[in-house]
Amino acid sequence: MNDKLTDLTRRLAVSGALSREEYEYLIVNRTPDVAQSLAHAALSVRERIYGRDVYVRGLIEISNICRNDCLYCGIRRSNKNVCRYRLEPRDILACCDEGYDLGFRTFVLQGGEDGFYTDGLLCDLICDIKTAHPDCAVTLSLGERSRESYAALKSAGADRYLLRHETASPEHYASLHPAQMSFSARMACLYDLKDLGYQVGCGFMVGSPGQTPAHIARDLEFIAEFKPDMCGIGPFIPQRDTPFGTEPAGTLELTCYLLSVIRLICPNVLLPATTALGTIDPFGREKGILAGANVVMPNLSPPSARKKYALYDNKISDGAESAQSKAELVRRMDAIGFRVVTARGDIIK
Ligand code: SAH
Repeated sequence: MNDKLTDLTRRLAVSGALSREEYEYLIVNRTPDVAQSLAHAALSVRERIYGRDVYVRGLIEISNICRNDCLYCGIRRSNKNVCRYRLEPRDILACCDEGYDLGFRTFVLQGGEDGFYTDGLLCDLICDIKTAHPDCAVTLSLGERSRESYAALKSAGADRYLLRHETASPEHYASLHPAQMSFSARMACLYDLKDLGYQVGCGFMVGSPGQTPAHIARDLEFIAEFKPDMCGIGPFIPQRDTPFGTEPAGTLELTCYLLSVIRLICPNVLLPATTALGTIDPFGREKGILAGANVVMPNLSPPSARKKYALYDNKISDGAESAQSKAELVRRMDAIGFRVVTARGDIIK
């Protein structure tokens, strides 16, 4: 490791934020040694705040119907090869009930931007979930909505909102999305959510088409400035029916490297080892946890929905990825010295 890398690694570990140029240097010049020392620092920061606990979330994929046409996403509107579905409120409540019995205390409702889920429907649903399970957190991941909508859902009891920023570079954002979508609208949503008092998650895909180290450096700079409560990053994985169907996938190595960097930028952040990471490597989740992640989000969707929520090819939903196989997840985390806990798992500030 050269002197500059040693200095950057040390400064990141003690103070968090670096400049954009420094992040870029850290990405371009990374070596296995640097990765190891960042992972070591990330693990000790994580351990100081969260101990060896791993928080679990039950992920319910409520609909694969989407008005948007994101170029990377398998459930984009123009993909005609998707068998579309949506879950009714009673189906979603049944998933929560089952998840509760399995030891989940956070339910994440994620889906495409499906107009079926009006504010009225969602507010009633959130109230019903909260009434049935007052000790649980409800996280929404339903894309861009109006500030009024976010406010109504918050009043109904929603606690957290995940909305990945996807990329912090406007021109890169434009190359990943159709003209109707805009970087500024995405950012406005994120700041609205924060302003309304949600615990907010941003994030991006690692290795998305056209992504350069300079883009990632901007993502890291944005994360340092936005200070999200949660941050979802996972490798881009091509979906064959999308315009990016033949692009290469992002790597496990860079994703784990960035998990460590993000842990050091935001020591308290809730950082999942994502499904995409588990999909590109059979030990992806473990490697993510060992790089500094502290959350896993097993799939709690009805089995009939799982295959249809195909954001990318070969997306896993079996084994430890399935909420019903929590015992396997517990075992696997235990094997690397971590403990899956039954708790809401709010950010510790
Ligand atoms: N409609 C919601 C949920 C989107 S799906 C929203 O807009 O927030 C959740 C995340 O999956 C997306 O934010 C995106 O970062 C990720 N994703 C989509 N397609 C992907 C792909 N091909 N490979 C990896 N991740 C993908």
